[in-house]
Amino acid sequence: MVKQPAPENVRPHTLDDDVTDTVPPQIFRQVVEQSALAISITDAQANILYVNPAFQRTSGYGLHEILGRNESLLSYRVTPKLVYETMWAQIKRQRPWNGLLVNKRKDGSRYLAELTISPVVDEQGNTSHYLGMHRDVTEVHRLERQVQNQKTLIESVVDAAQVAIVLLDEQERVLLDNQEYKKLVGDLGKEPATRLLASIRAQMGKAFEQAQNKHHNLAAREVCVELTNRAARWFSCAVSWFEEQDVGADAFYEPLRRNYLLLTIQDISELKRQQEAIRINSLRALLSEQERIHGLRETLAGAVYQLEGPLNMLAAVTNMLERRREPGSDLPASAALEEAMQKSREVLETLRACIPDQATGKMQPVNLNEILSDVLKLSTASLLGAGIVVEWQPAAVFEAIPNSGSVIGHPAQLSNLFKQLIANAVEAINEQRGPRRELRIACVPRPDCMEVFIEDSGPSIPAELRFKVFQPFFTTKGAARQHLGLGLAMAQDVVARHGGTIDIDPDFRNGCRVRVQLPRASGGAHVQ
Ligand code: FAD
Repeated sequence: MVKQPAPENVRPHTLDDDVTDTVPPQIFRQVVEQSALAISITDAQANILYVNPAFQRTSGYGLHEILGRNESLLSYRVTPKLVYETMWAQIKRQRPWNGLLVNKRKDGSRYLAELTISPVVDEQGNTSHYLGMHRDVTEVHRLERQVQNQKTLIESVVDAAQVAIVLLDEQERVLLDNQEYKKLVGDLGKEPATRLLASIRAQMGKAFEQAQNKHHNLAAREVCVELTNRAARWFSCAVSWFEEQDVGADAFYEPLRRNYLLLTIQDISELKRQQEAIRINSLRALLSEQERIHGLRETLAGAVYQLEGPLNMLAAVTNMLERRREPGSDLPASAALEEAMQKSREVLETLRACIPDQATGKMQPVNLNEILSDVLKLSTASLLGAGIVVEWQPAAVFEAIPNSGSVIGHPAQLSNLFKQLIANAVEAINEQRGPRRELRIACVPRPDCMEVFIEDSGPSIPAELRFKVFQPFFTTKGAARQHLGLGLAMAQDVVARHGGTIDIDPDFRNGCRVRVQLPRASGGAHVQ
């Protein structure tokens, strides 16, 4: 709506002598005649005494049809009575009035008139006439209303959207948001948009600024928001930039552009949780399959090793008998022994052929923090079941340095390695049954290697067995407790394949500390 406050101290119209000296009186008439504004002059009761051609064009009435009629002829009779009352009260106090009226043309069509009425005061100070000036603002009003309707429509659509939407200015102040965004403010505190944009900036580095400068939209940027005492939330964010021309008067001839950022935020925490559960389950399945194959390999290899002993003895006996045999004499058992030897070798070969291949896969940069936290997730049930307090200290990783905190290796093999070491620690703690039930896992970057400590509050390993425990089939528990003694042998095998070392810290006093050192990826470690 066009609103103009009525000036309080405007002097009523009088013909100034100084002006008539410089501008002849007929010019005033010509100005009114030729004005594009619809101008009328009425008596004090609003009876029309004069209208200019623009008035005739706007109202559709010819000069002689309208002269002598009241201005109310133009009223469409929908303008509230109060408007007229206010208008009259104002002009009667000899003050100009400005407002909007719904007018009706001669042909019955309506238009919105923006009208200014100025009282004309005579020399005695009485209102002798009124000067009316109006213009048809129907189109302006239509456009204003259309913009308003569109704004309302957009706001309703944005509000009904199932994703959070927020519009920010260059200073990242919120200009517009929807219900979902307001919910996010309730959940995450003020101001979620600033928090999420900071994470996206940190993820992208300079690429964010480049995208902003070129107005390249960003889609599906996943951001994790850590929350105190609550599960972390995941969001998929899309960022669009756009420019708007400043609507201020200053910018009419010198356009100023304003930049805005539209951020849409979709909560994908549930999806992430499901994906994570699927990932951990497949990792669990992969690791147990690997464990099974590894156990089978070691068992068959052990069986072959155990059978080789008696077979070698048998071969030695056969050789001895052969050497003692008189030339030309027949040794009755010789053929049977040879046959038994042959059969045994065949059985051994069959057993060797049954040993499954070690699954190798491709070597790749492996983030030890991720591997260890995955293995901890896999071990959650046993740790909780045993009431063990876990302290997990991941390595400080520098985002700016690619692969910092990584080693080159087989993710599954390394996962199995740490799973085995954690399982050993849990078992040791359970064995101790003492009040301290603690497991501490730390990953520490060293100049040329990544070091992982697994410390448990269990009974530890006697100094004399520190090296022996890594031998295949060595166990301190005994076969009766279903221990083959292959766990640490497998661990050492995996570590050796990665060019690293594993040992038991002899100086650790509060239980057992296993230390694994693996060459760092950035150090260009050589691995098989
Ligand atoms: P009215 O009976 O005319 O008046 C309604 C109310 O206005 C009354 O209750 C009364 O309080 C007040 N009123 C009316 N006349 C007087 C008066 N002489 N003295 C004191 N109070 C009064 N109206 C339009 O609809 N469109 C126009 O384009 C328009 N242009 C105008 C231009 C000028 C210069 C002037 C002076 C008036 C103009 N009017 C215009 C107002 C018009 O004269 C009517 O007052 C209005 O149209 C309402 O008419 P009505 O018949 O509904 O009610």
